[in-house]
Amino acid sequence: MRIASIIDISLVDVPGIPVTVIFTAGCNFDCPYCQNAELIPRDSGEEMAPEEVVRRTQGFLSEGFCVTGGEPTIHGDLPDLLEALRGQDPRHINLNTQGSVPNILRRSLPFLDSVWFDLKAAPGRYRDVVRTRSNPWPRIEESLRLLLDSSAKVWPRTTYVGNLLTPEDIREIMDVLVELGFSGEYLVQNYVDSQGVRPSEAEQLRVPSADELDDVVRNSPRGIRVRLDWR
Ligand code: SF4
Repeated sequence: MRIASIIDISLVDVPGIPVTVIFTAGCNFDCPYCQNAELIPRDSGEEMAPEEVVRRTQGFLSEGFCVTGGEPTIHGDLPDLLEALRGQDPRHINLNTQGSVPNILRRSLPFLDSVWFDLKAAPGRYRDVVRTRSNPWPRIEESLRLLLDSSAKVWPRTTYVGNLLTPEDIREIMDVLVELGFSGEYLVQNYVDSQGVRPSEAEQLRVPSADELDDVVRNSPRGIRVRLDWR
């Protein structure tokens, strides 16, 4: 797989557990607000065998791992990496994914404790927001079903981007979560203009106000607790 970087310890990626963060490189989406746009190209990062990744994470003071990207599930050897990390006897392994490659996610599940699942838009708007040739929604839905049937904790999350998403997207995402049987916390975080966003894209986007979501948060469906994280 291709690896962009490894951060020895992070206190913010998994609640309450210090983790080593492994950034895979390459993504099959092209979200305009991507904060790691330099990791989108498939040939970005450095080719590394799972054993080498594990070797480079040794000696850190973390208690677990978070594998993020880019999109980790585009790499066929992700389950091998996770199995090798599990062999290090960590307290926790977390994966960040947008869920577009369910067959790799399925093979990864036995090694995962939790998954941050990035929901990008309402189902009918997915293709426009992530700019793929075909509609990825059926694969996203399959991944969500797999996760909700597994023993891993599922942490759904959306980045709310001004000029791209609307409160209706958030409302529809919550309805889908309920329909698929999820109950619990749904994290909505604001888009922030950072150095990692391509300048030509950033000028089309807007940092949104939390007030825009007052109504949908107040009327969230039973079983969903929306947590707004305005950074
Ligand atoms: S899915 Fe994530 S890594 Fe891929 S383009 Fe979108 S924001 Fe960037």
